[in-house]
Amino acid sequence: MRIAIDAEPLAARMCWCRLCQYLGGGSGTVNVCFPSDKLTVTGEVRWHHSIADSGTAMRRGFCPECGTPLFSLAESRPHLSFIRAGALDDPDLLAPQAVIWTDAAPDWAHLDPDLPHYPAQIPPIA
Ligand SMILES: [Zn+2]
Repeated sequence: MRIAIDAEPLAARMCWCRLCQYLGGGSGTVNVCFPSDKLTVTGEVRWHHSIADSGTAMRRGFCPECGTPLFSLAESRPHLSFIRAGALDDPDLLAPQAVIWTDAAPDWAHLDPDLPHYPAQIPPIA
């Protein structure tokens, strides 16, 4: 499957919530935000519905062929789509600007000291 993106990224964050640690195989995840209406998805995405640690109802999208995590969408903010940075053709598109859910990170986690740290969720991007 392919995701065509016709917009610049709005933000990028490193997330250490427990769910991201499951998805990341132990590490956190890096998520890049785009306007949903600028994305064109070709091929199948499998969706998993869940409630995030923040209490937000989420949809998380995966490639049904290989299991690669692709999307994280908040049901309450459908205009924003977070794409897992590892799924991008260019993971250098935008470096993380903040580290969130640091309270959930394991003691061995390397948290970039040059970025702002937040113990849990931060307010959504407008
Ligand atoms: Zn997370």
